[in-house]
Amino acid sequence: MRDAAPQTIFLKDYTPFGYIVQDVHLTFKLAPRATRVISRIRFAPNPGADNKTFFLHGEQLDLKWAKINGAQIKPAITPEGLSTDVPEGAFTFECEVEISPETNTALEGLYMSGGMYCTQCEAEGFRKITYYPDRPDVMSTFTVRVEGPHPVLLSNGNPATSGEHFAEWHDPWPKPAYLFALVAGDLIAHPDRFTTMSGKDVELNIYVRKGDEDKCAFGMEALKKSMVWDEKVYGREYDLDIFNIVAVDDFNMGAMENKGLNVFNSSCVLASPETSTDANFERIEAIIAHEYFHNWTGNRITCRDWFQLCLKEGLTVYRDSQFTSDMRSASVKRISDVIDLRGRQFAEDGGPLAHPVRPDRFVEINNFYTATVYEKGAEVIGMLKTLVGDDAYAKALDLYFERHDGDAATIEDWLQVFEDVTGRNLKRFKRWYTSAGTPQLSVKESFKNGRYKLTFRQETPPTPGQPQKKPRVIPIAVGLLDESGAEVLPTQILEMTKRQQSFKWEGLASKPVPSILRGFSAPVILKRYTDDDERAFLLAHDTDPFNRWEAGRELAKSTLLNMIEDGASPDTRYLDGMLAVLRDDALDPATRALMLGLPSQSELAQTLADKGVVPDPQAIYEAVQTLNLAMAQHMQDTLPRIYAQCQVEGPYSPDAEPAGKRELAIATLGLGSRLDGGKAAKDQFASADNMTLQISALAILLRQKVGDTELDQFYAQWKHDRLVMDKWFGLQVGAAVPEDAAYIAEKLTQHPDFDHKNPNRFRATLGALAAHHAGFHHISGRGYTLLADWLITLDPINPQTTARMCAAFQTWKRYDPKRQEMILAEVDRILAQPNLSRDTAEMLSRIRAA
Ligand SMILES: [Zn+2]
Repeated sequence: MRDAAPQTIFLKDYTPFGYIVQDVHLTFKLAPRATRVISRIRFAPNPGADNKTFFLHGEQLDLKWAKINGAQIKPAITPEGLSTDVPEGAFTFECEVEISPETNTALEGLYMSGGMYCTQCEAEGFRKITYYPDRPDVMSTFTVRVEGPHPVLLSNGNPATSGEHFAEWHDPWPKPAYLFALVAGDLIAHPDRFTTMSGKDVELNIYVRKGDEDKCAFGMEALKKSMVWDEKVYGREYDLDIFNIVAVDDFNMGAMENKGLNVFNSSCVLASPETSTDANFERIEAIIAHEYFHNWTGNRITCRDWFQLCLKEGLTVYRDSQFTSDMRSASVKRISDVIDLRGRQFAEDGGPLAHPVRPDRFVEINNFYTATVYEKGAEVIGMLKTLVGDDAYAKALDLYFERHDGDAATIEDWLQVFEDVTGRNLKRFKRWYTSAGTPQLSVKESFKNGRYKLTFRQETPPTPGQPQKKPRVIPIAVGLLDESGAEVLPTQILEMTKRQQSFKWEGLASKPVPSILRGFSAPVILKRYTDDDERAFLLAHDTDPFNRWEAGRELAKSTLLNMIEDGASPDTRYLDGMLAVLRDDALDPATRALMLGLPSQSELAQTLADKGVVPDPQAIYEAVQTLNLAMAQHMQDTLPRIYAQCQVEGPYSPDAEPAGKRELAIATLGLGSRLDGGKAAKDQFASADNMTLQISALAILLRQKVGDTELDQFYAQWKHDRLVMDKWFGLQVGAAVPEDAAYIAEKLTQHPDFDHKNPNRFRATLGALAAHHAGFHHISGRGYTLLADWLITLDPINPQTTARMCAAFQTWKRYDPKRQEMILAEVDRILAQPNLSRDTAEMLSRIRAA
């Protein structure tokens, strides 16, 4: 239900809670519609807090009784919580509430999924379980008793006692309520063990539903690799006797780092070669690492309040990207991360939903689990490391763990350890946390008498609530090449601190070619008015793998924009450059595959909008098709050879090397299919013994409109497997031509296997439509209407997933008046729904206010 006037919460209003929680005892008597939760909580006055108002959060709870120090009380109850008078000094609060997990479709708090009980408490789900100060700065030890008929009864911490139909758990590490978890069900464990660096033996389990036991081995290996890596790289050791992971089908997010009991969306942990793609394997490895790394960056050191979310998320995303770089290819990981950052975060930062990495206000915190907080938050940490150097970064992290272990900390605490270790003043750097928007970095060059000068200027466009922007500290990695392509200056970090700043190099024999922002050393938009000859030169010669890719990407953009705006033909410099890349055996296959990919159509639309040109989604789509066909024709003789070279012999392995080969094989197959009508793709589909090859062939066939038979075969083969069926749903929308995308999505929503209550299936179908740029923005407006219809249906069931998907409308201002009008009509139609959730109302109001 929407509050009459949704309340905005401000960072500046933070005050500590008036009481500390000494310990918590919870008893759960599980029943689908009438679970009883009995709590016993010992409170003591917090000497660091002035306000002694006693208020406990609690929503949708049926209070049976409450006591203080054993005496019944009659507390005041509102839809938000409970308040009562309390004695001076320490006291014990007890109560019993009834909740209904079975009817909890929002998937927040305690709910049921496929017959099992599970919880999701971050950010504010614990208040739907019992009355409690549900805020991250209130930390306590928990003892939990779970009573139910299920063979597996789990909670956080170490197992204490258990017997028939009950189990008790004790978590010795003080934690905030958002890290609480409970799981009960008929589950099967995939067990293992791990010995930590100090010789402690830890029991490991991945719990799954019957039938999924054969999909756990990869996740378990990833967990052990993560444990070793965190010991080696950050000196962090695991701190309980047991670590459990549980796979759940109905889950709003990817996974959740509850202390000692991680709960995973099954799509983020279950893997087998037959049902998972190479990309799935890589993602699973990264997410398992991410959640595990939270044990230190998030759990042992948590956030003081939700404004500090980036403290745990930015750092943990940064740590998991370091892990993936170490396990796989660092340059491939970097390029992939930047593609993702530009696709999601830059769009957010440049539109109505822009907010700082550390926001200073929110209505619904669930709406701030964003690419800005996560991915830009990680970029900020990467920049900090670049600026202070690897040694100082390691020292600062050691100090952070030493100083703040057991704390609920802030960004100020985080920056302070870097200031203390390095003696630097990070006041200016902090603007990366407090200021929204992507800085635009323009650059001019001059060369005279052997002196080469680069002059940079930074400008950040206004964002909602922040019209003026101060300059930020930007680490700019630069290298210089001579005209033969040899490097005359290896990578050097320039530290830009002013709005405009110049850097000089003396004694150069000739005007160099600069390679700027190597490794994407800062999340900025580089505006450099250069020509395609120089881009082609850098594509051929740059020693920095990221910038080599970037030169190709810029060349692709340049030719696509010329095609879209002026009807030009595909540029031969681009086609020649890509042919050279394809043939370059010195480049690993994964990098070549990445380089052959074109910028996303949404990115092209944004680039046009930035130039003041109204993007036409259909024209962009057609230009991409034309360029792909031209590439296929230009590479005609080479494609089959590379495809043959990239066939992987032997049993399937998801490791980086064979996965890279498959990726390049698929890229060449995709281009080749534009000439052979899908013949080779049909062969690959028929002979595929793993999901990567099977589904990529199917996608290519559908795009060529010759895949109907294979689509049916695929369904018949996989209809029993819900994760593969998610792919089946998404694929059909993604491969559709623009005018069909919304029709196909609509038809799929009528399919008997479509279940809108399952977030994975909902996202697979309607998320795929929102991601199909020309399909979603088709001039018929059908895509907008279909998405709005389904958001209206889903909102009363699952506000969190609904609100997140509203972001599909955030770019409305880019488009022509007719599309703008159609989008806003749908936004208004949703906003006019009675009882719209606070989540969705906030998102759409922000989008509308642009
Ligand atoms: Zn996280």
